[in-house]
Amino acid sequence: MELRFSAAEEAFRAEARAWLAANVPGAARPRGEDLRARRAFDLAWQRRLFDAGWAGVSWPREYGGRGATLMEQLIWYEEYARAGAPEITTTFVGLNHAGPTLIACGSAAQKAYHLPRILRGEVVWCQGFSEPNAGSDLASLQTKAVVEGDHLVVTGQKIWTSFAQIAEFQELLVRTDPAAPRHRGITWVICPMDAPGITIRPITTLAGGQDFCEVFYDGVRIPLANVVGALNDGWRVAMATLSFERGTAFLSEQVRLARRVGALVELARRVPGPRGRARAVDDDELARRLARASAEVEAMRAMTYRSVSLAAQTGVPGAEASIIRLFFSELVQRIDVLAMDVLGAAGTRQLGGAEGTPGRWTERYLAGLSQTIGGGTKDIQRNIIGDRVLGLPR
Ligand SMILES: Cc1cc2nc3c(=O)[nH]c(=O)nc-3n(C[C@H](O)[C@H](O)[C@H](O)COP(=O)(O)OP(=O)(O)OC[C@H]3O[C@@H](n4cnc5c(N)ncnc54)[C@H](O)[C@@H]3O)c2cc1C
Repeated sequence: MELRFSAAEEAFRAEARAWLAANVPGAARPRGEDLRARRAFDLAWQRRLFDAGWAGVSWPREYGGRGATLMEQLIWYEEYARAGAPEITTTFVGLNHAGPTLIACGSAAQKAYHLPRILRGEVVWCQGFSEPNAGSDLASLQTKAVVEGDHLVVTGQKIWTSFAQIAEFQELLVRTDPAAPRHRGITWVICPMDAPGITIRPITTLAGGQDFCEVFYDGVRIPLANVVGALNDGWRVAMATLSFERGTAFLSEQVRLARRVGALVELARRVPGPRGRARAVDDDELARRLARASAEVEAMRAMTYRSVSLAAQTGVPGAEASIIRLFFSELVQRIDVLAMDVLGAAGTRQLGGAEGTPGRWTERYLAGLSQTIGGGTKDIQRNIIGDRVLGLPR
């Protein structure tokens, strides 16, 4: 296989690289507990992207996006990560879930109100899908909503809602017809997070942050005009949302991972190794694993290029996206474990800290455990691969 970028794509790359070099914020993105500071930083960065015409690279032009081709998106996210541009976290749901879902399924009024606010960096969205008894099996969700006049009245609980405490809006799934077959009685509705009756309780994670929450709904009134798609049509809309979940923004995570392996090799050259070695990299076993990690990152890149070029030709994202997703999440964890082995006892002394410090690697290791859970667990990914790629019997 030979893959080359066209002259127009190379010109796009040069433009993206130049803009990023001049505009990526010099100050480090706030991390940790100060979520308000993270929100302010992310929204200001989003505004800057918007003002320069780089907001929503994958969104169609008619909705204010860049309308980039798949190859251009790949180039943009490569350059984005290479330039050390801010990770997309608090603005993720708005840009990669809610926005594309509204474009695909929303009413004209919903699009007109919400899409510009998301692109301009004025609002944060969160996702209220998972419940204590509905994660992988999302269709078993129980949070109910009854129609009263021109409102839905919502009662129930969601869990693992990332950034609920700093969000204006939520993409909320509720059960509106308990008598219907379980996939048919669900509705996708836009929930304003300041509505009376909502209680948000942050959950502290293993890595010490409070990035997700439990959200309780006690008779919360939401206008029927906020329903996306039709009443009881929410499963179809939710499937559209989940199809945007990984999107092309995932590419920047891959480039970031490649850089992290490079940083890990540098770390192994600086810190003492096991069994009395002067440097960790002098240990044969660690050196072998570092080399393997570098090769695996390259292999994943090649799989991604192949997948994107196929999708660009056929117009349909292939099921191999699940293979890449699974490989990525397990590779992240292998690299995190390797970092802990390179650090040895130094990895147990501190949690968190500046980039490059042992505590930062330890924090990454703990946070990385969620890689094989969020956005569909590794077992669910294996089920999808077995079913849709290999055609195995159920
Ligand atoms: C960092 C992070 C952020 C998140 N943010 C959000 C958010 O913003 N909004 C939101 O709604 N949710 C969010 N989630 C929740 C996430 O979507 C769920 O955790 C995920 O879907 C798994 O559901 P569960 O936790 O209920 O686990 P379960 O579904 O209960 O799974 C438990 C175990 O059983 C296995 N299992 C379950 N079913 C099968 C099966 N059919 N075959 C084989 N094995 C199976 C799973 O793989 C897992 O190992 C987040 C999760 C994480 C980790």
